[in-house]
Amino acid sequence: MCPVKKSYRTPHNRIKILVKEAKQMVNGPYYCPQCKKELMQILADPNKKEVFAVCKCGLEEKMAYAPVFQPVDYYSKFMDLYKKRKFEEYRQQYMRQQREKQQVSKT
Ligand SMILES: [Zn+2]
Repeated sequence: MCPVKKSYRTPHNRIKILVKEAKQMVNGPYYCPQCKKELMQILADPNKKEVFAVCKCGLEEKMAYAPVFQPVDYYSKFMDLYKKRKFEEYRQQYMRQQREKQQVSKT
């Protein structure tokens, strides 16, 4: 048994694999809205038609590849997706709270 090996199994492994597989590693790093650091990278794989926004904090977003897009376009697209998701989370939370309030007033 070798307990040292376990420490290599960090989530960072996945990022390294992505970097290796990506045909072109486009510029960055970009500001990450989750960890508030400039650790995010945009990785494009034209063969698989996949683009990833990956951050060292674990944030990862897959996007569709678009040949006309520049890295910064992907980044702004990612930010849109991120904001939309945050908004959706907030909206659902709000709806739930309203529903709970209604239930309380009914009883
Ligand atoms: Zn981050």
